[in-house]
Amino acid sequence: MADWKNWMREANYIAGAWVGADDGATLDVTNPATGEVIGQIPKSGHSETMRAIDAAHAAFPAFAAMDLMGRLALLWKLHDALMDNQDSLAELLTREMGKPLAEAKGEIAIGAQYLRWYAEEARRVKGEIVPAGVNGRRILVTKHPVGVVGMITPWNFPSSMLARKLAPALAVGCTVVAKPSEETPYSGLAWAALAEDVGYPKGVINIVTGDAPAIGGAMMARPELRKVTFTGSTNVGKLLIRQSADTVKKVSMELGGNAPFIVFDDADLDRAIDGVMASKFRNSGQTCVCANRVFVQAGVHDEFVAKLVEKTRALKLGNGMDAGVTQGPLINQAALKKVEGFVEDAKAKGATVATGGMRDQLGGTFFQPTVLTGAKADMEFAQEEIFGPVAPVFKFETDQDGIDMANNTRFGLAAYAYTSDLARAMRLDRDLQYGMVGINSGMITTVEAPFGGVKESGLGKEGGSQGVEDYLDTKYVCIDGL
Ligand code: NAP
Repeated sequence: MADWKNWMREANYIAGAWVGADDGATLDVTNPATGEVIGQIPKSGHSETMRAIDAAHAAFPAFAAMDLMGRLALLWKLHDALMDNQDSLAELLTREMGKPLAEAKGEIAIGAQYLRWYAEEARRVKGEIVPAGVNGRRILVTKHPVGVVGMITPWNFPSSMLARKLAPALAVGCTVVAKPSEETPYSGLAWAALAEDVGYPKGVINIVTGDAPAIGGAMMARPELRKVTFTGSTNVGKLLIRQSADTVKKVSMELGGNAPFIVFDDADLDRAIDGVMASKFRNSGQTCVCANRVFVQAGVHDEFVAKLVEKTRALKLGNGMDAGVTQGPLINQAALKKVEGFVEDAKAKGATVATGGMRDQLGGTFFQPTVLTGAKADMEFAQEEIFGPVAPVFKFETDQDGIDMANNTRFGLAAYAYTSDLARAMRLDRDLQYGMVGINSGMITTVEAPFGGVKESGLGKEGGSQGVEDYLDTKYVCIDGL
């Protein structure tokens, strides 16, 4: 049995030392499946973050100047350490976050893939020599690490969201100050423990936990911190973009979504059902790319709903540590009330509960996997992220209706569509206003592809060859008089 406490650190990691908050304040961390307090973390703020930035700033020149192969050797070691401890890290993740253990193991594994991918990609960060317009002049375009990077991550993927920021940053020579969510800090702090074990130089990775506005505010105010990469809600992202103006930082924003899942009359319905189950109910509906609105064309609507209800009823709610459980609890009471509010609002406006629709008898923050039919554009979830296990089904008639309904949102992260018509799929590529589109697939996140949204879902990409660009500055060097 994995010992989940092996990697549990109850301190900040600053300049290579494990330290508490300056005033000794702590915050409890709770297992959402049991309500049990599993530990404490420092409730740090401004002063601790300032020291972490100092440490990262001091460590930057030597780390950036390290031989590329030396830096990448460290990244490979981090990869191996992560996978060697996959079971205990996954158990820690499940205990602080609630997701089923199998999903937590998958999250650790995808984090490792990001390390591996960027250990490979960093070898192909190439500059350019561009033909000059006049003789005797040479134009060089060179790439350089941006410097100290601030990373702020959410609770829903507390390990892999940090992995896909750490991997490209460390690969190209940036140093880091990270702040994990107070709901799930241990999976974030574990990265510092692993990095310490494999020999990262002091100050290269710093992690501070505690008061989010104070830590974020300190990051945004310091000119030495050259870039902030944030994954979380659109509202906090907007605040950080505003705060970044004073020191003109680079920002990457992976924000909220409102994914449409469109099923056309010619779709392979069984495949579409598998896709919607994975997209909607993974992590109990608490993913940014979750299907938030399910649009089904009239000709297959009733058959699709019948199959969806049958599959949804077969989901097993419970403690993610228990065998066979497919659905964990919601992260906290606020999330539970929000999800419940969406269902009540929809019912009041005419939606029908086909299955689920209420808190579960398990108590705590468990909400029943739910299917609603008769969903309409005036219901709150048409515009807001549900972030819970509720699948609202909207009926549509023509292709254009489906596309218009899908695009009717301020968000633009992921969209999904099921059809067997290749021409229609190509039109969807043109017409869907989203950063990512899954055709006949409900699970599209992969290290090789650029993950990210348009509209109010964000700026920048994570993954793919594009994901490294956000950690690099481009310099133009003109050599004249040749
Ligand atoms: P959140 O409330 O915005 O929190 C995200 C992070 O920001 C947490 O670490 C939080 O700290 C911190 N934070 C909160 N207020 C802050 C402030 N004033 N200054 C600096 N940092 C602050 O989002 P969440 O509820 O954790 O996560 C869910 C959201 O993330 C959803 O909207 C989801 O769609 C989005 N998300 C997007 C992606 C993507 O790739 N596009 C991926 C995953 C999730 P505390 O938690 O400690 O308060």
